[in-house]
Amino acid sequence: MPPQSFTTHSTGPLIRLKGVNFTYQTAGRRVKALRDITLDVERGEFVSICGPSGCGKSTLLNVMGTLDRPETGSLSFRGQDMANATSSSLARLRALDIGFVFQSFNLIDSLSVYENIKLALLYRRRPDIDVDERVEEVMDLVGIAHRARHLPNQLSGGQQQRCAIARAIVGKPSIILADEPTGNLDSENAAQIFNILQAVHAEGCTLVIVTHSPAQADQAERIVEMLDGRIQFTRRRLS
Ligand code: ADP
Repeated sequence: MPPQSFTTHSTGPLIRLKGVNFTYQTAGRRVKALRDITLDVERGEFVSICGPSGCGKSTLLNVMGTLDRPETGSLSFRGQDMANATSSSLARLRALDIGFVFQSFNLIDSLSVYENIKLALLYRRRPDIDVDERVEEVMDLVGIAHRARHLPNQLSGGQQQRCAIARAIVGKPSIILADEPTGNLDSENAAQIFNILQAVHAEGCTLVIVTHSPAQADQAERIVEMLDGRIQFTRRRLS
C-alpha cells in the first residue's frame, strides 16, 4: 500500500490536541469524558490508548477523528486548526484522510464484502485510483478475497473485521483510528487482525488503536494510559 494519500508541505504532528475538554450532555445529565487532554500524534506513528472502561478512550478517538468537536481546547490536523472548520469540510477530511475501524465492524448488511469496500472508495472520490483494481488489492492484503461475494452475516467475526479494515484502508488514508478492533474476536482472530493493522502501519499509515489488551498496547511505539478522562501518562515502547 502506498504510504500517504496526500503530499504535505506542512511540518509538525499529524494530529495535535491542546487542552481538550469534552462533556456529554444527555437528558439533563453531564458527563465530563475528557479533561485537559494534550497530545501529539506524529506522522507515521503507532500509538495505543489504554485504560479502564469509561475513562474516555473512545471519546478521545472520536475527537481525533473529528467526529466530535472539543468543548474547549483545540484540535489541529496537519497543522490546521479545526475550530472553525465547517461540518462539510470535516466530512471531507474524514473521507479523504481518516480510516475508522470499530469493535462492532459496522458493515452494511445488504452489501457484499466487495461492495462494502468499493462503496467506501467511491465515497472517497479518488479519481487517481482504479477502483476495481484497488478493491481487489486490499481484499488480498487483508485475506478476504475468497469471500468477496458474501454478505457480512455470512462471515465470521474475524472475516467481518478484515472487511472493515479493507474498507478503512481502501482510500489510502493518512491515519487509521481503531476502537477496540479485536474486542469481539477470539484470540487467534484477534492476533491476525492485529497483525494486519501492524502491516498497514509498517507501510507508512499512522495508526492509533484503543485496546484493553496490554500485550497489544505494548506493541505500539507510544502507549497513552488514561484514567477518568485524563492522560495519566504516556510512555515509549520498551525495546
Ligand atoms: P471508554 O472508551 O474508555 O470506555 P468512553 O469514551 O466511551 O470511554 O466514555 C467516557 C465517559 O463518557 C463514560 O463515563 C461514558 O459513560 C460517557 N459517555 C460515552 N458516550 C456517551 C454518550 N453518547 N452520552 C453520554 N455519556 C457518554
